[in-house]
Amino acid sequence: MPQSPRVLMCAPDYYGVEYVINPWMEGQIGRSDLAKAKRQWESLRALVSTLARIELLPPQPGLPDMVFTANAGLACQGKVVPASFRVPERKREEPHHGQWFQDRRFHVEELGPDQPFEGEGDALFQPGEPLLWAGYGVRSSIECHPFLTTVFECEVISLRLVDPRFYHLDTCFYPLPGGRVVYWPGAFDEDSLTRIRTRIPATHRIEVKEQAALRFACNAVRIGTTIIATAHSDELRRRLAGWGYDARDVDVSEFLLAGGGCKCLVMLLDQDPGTGAREGLTFESLVRTTRLSMTGHILDTGKLNRVIAAATDAGLGCRVEKLEAGERFDQHSYAQLRVTAPTQERLDTSVAELIALGAEPSADHPQEALTQTAPKDGVAPEDFYSTTIYPTRVLVGGAWLLAVGQRMDAMLVVDRTAPSVVCRLMRDLRVDDEVVVGHHGIKVELPEINAHGEGFSFMSAGVSSERRVEHTVDELAWEIARCVERGGRVCVVSGPVVIHTGGGPYLQQLIEHGFVHVLLTGNALPVHDIESSMFGTSLGVDLSRGRGVRGGHRHHLRAINRVRHAGSIKDAVEQGVITGGIMHACVKHNVRYVLAGSIRDDGPLPDTLMDLVEAQRAYADALEGCEIVLMLSTMLHSIGVGNMTPAGVKLICVDINPAVVTKLADRGSIESVGIVTDVGLFMRLLAQRLCDI
Ligand code: NAD
Repeated sequence: MPQSPRVLMCAPDYYGVEYVINPWMEGQIGRSDLAKAKRQWESLRALVSTLARIELLPPQPGLPDMVFTANAGLACQGKVVPASFRVPERKREEPHHGQWFQDRRFHVEELGPDQPFEGEGDALFQPGEPLLWAGYGVRSSIECHPFLTTVFECEVISLRLVDPRFYHLDTCFYPLPGGRVVYWPGAFDEDSLTRIRTRIPATHRIEVKEQAALRFACNAVRIGTTIIATAHSDELRRRLAGWGYDARDVDVSEFLLAGGGCKCLVMLLDQDPGTGAREGLTFESLVRTTRLSMTGHILDTGKLNRVIAAATDAGLGCRVEKLEAGERFDQHSYAQLRVTAPTQERLDTSVAELIALGAEPSADHPQEALTQTAPKDGVAPEDFYSTTIYPTRVLVGGAWLLAVGQRMDAMLVVDRTAPSVVCRLMRDLRVDDEVVVGHHGIKVELPEINAHGEGFSFMSAGVSSERRVEHTVDELAWEIARCVERGGRVCVVSGPVVIHTGGGPYLQQLIEHGFVHVLLTGNALPVHDIESSMFGTSLGVDLSRGRGVRGGHRHHLRAINRVRHAGSIKDAVEQGVITGGIMHACVKHNVRYVLAGSIRDDGPLPDTLMDLVEAQRAYADALEGCEIVLMLSTMLHSIGVGNMTPAGVKLICVDINPAVVTKLADRGSIESVGIVTDVGLFMRLLAQRLCDI
């Protein structure tokens, strides 16, 4: 008869909720009932003792969480990796665990310094297989996973935890013999769920419901065919019975106050990681690491924080290995980061995102950019790098080449004969173009904007609310006037709301006074502008009185009809069909206009480009050389223009909806200034400042 397995428990003599290190402990300090906790622990011990031999870890005063022995380490076949706690409150338990393992003649394998690992809480063997499921992201770090692969000579699958209530893997997952698992999917990120579901077929998985998971149904001790947890739901009990298990409940409610259930109170000392199954197999960790560096005003601009936050959000381990802070506000700082991902693929995609935020491949080991040829016209290689609006350098033949034609969402194409790098849209790629893939040998130069959004010039990035509009318009008027004085070009991107809100005459004045050089819009603005110049209405509403006029609903169609009859807007102006308004001013003052069509267009006007690719090209061409782009109440055209504009061009977005102005910043245009206000009012203020009316 096989010997019953050994487990480790620790009596709750000094148990209590004395600090807060997980969400369950919040509001529970001093609330646990020690006598009741002892009774509950005794009933768990009584049940476990019928199934296993219990070893006892001597409890220590002042260490209330020692009772949760699952976090003491990970033991298997005489070896143990003791825990190295992330939280200082539990670090003081470590010498006691270490001593106990040594006294029991375990072969102790110590982790390197500063690699949080919270034992069996975050590492669970698949019984009978050389496979360890390892959690990370809340308490344990992914950096320790390669070490676990080496020590236990098994495959390690990294699972990222994303819900702080399920801060250890054993709170939301347990493996069972025969390649089965029970888990709560909500505790994991998408990649980790894919890893579980790829490895374990649906017939071998039980996905418990959130309510059951919150009652610690997944925090279960399995010994033989008995599974012990706090409260099995009827459904879970039935499904486990179907697999041949006896699901037993033990009430440990006093320990739940500290965020620990039955499994947390029991550490397994004899595990079976499939000794036979591993014969002749060698295991290599899939975890991959790379180094990145950052230089510049990375502290006061918040750049370093943004990169660390993005790395963490992407499920990477991130460690600042070196930090040399500039001593004065005008000095640069330097940081070296080490990022670790569960797979090479995840590392590649995530590092590309960090490079877009200003991190660089470590200067100690610069690697040439990798390229692959485009497989077809208009098709990029699968792993293409996609650009941001910021100046980008690519390491080609030992030289950092600045990409030409910088814009967002383009591919980088290398020409080794020149040598040069250009930004090219996917649709413009030609078969055999050499396209940059992965993230090596790419640097993105971000502007230096501090934590208050103050940056390179007078007008600063950010969103101005109603109260600050007048002040912001003053600054903007000053910038536009200076730009025009030095021969610079100003582009207006506008929607029809400018006309409906009475801003049309002010835009017209700006054009007549030479403050606008390019107008990018759709079909609607010229339609309503021409309607208003012909009939005094916009969408049939009398603009001077704000009332609908009889038959007004046909006005915009009559306006379109007359222009179609004339041939084009220019022809209609020259034939005297259009005698005033914005489009009239554009024709008379040689302002270039491009009208991009949309699915909701009436008519359209003969000038409206209904081929979208042609319209995008015409917009990009007209934007060439513009220094200021004023975006007036059009989400569609503003975002389109934001994507094709390189960094360094000042974008001012005016909209009544704050979500629209912040959307531009979200898309990476962090030099954009948002002004939340009525566009008619804004146009009046701007024309007053610039045209002296
Ligand atoms: P859009 O939804 O992209 O943008 C309209 C924006 O105006 C919104 O962001 C909204 O918040 C903002 N806004 C509304 N009232 C405002 C105010 N008082 N002050 C400031 N901002 C205000 O729509 P769009 O650009 O107007 O139109 C999308 C496309 O549809 C365009 O290409 C347009 O030409 C076309 N369109 C055609 C016709 C037509 O042909 N009859 C009519 C309407 C729109």
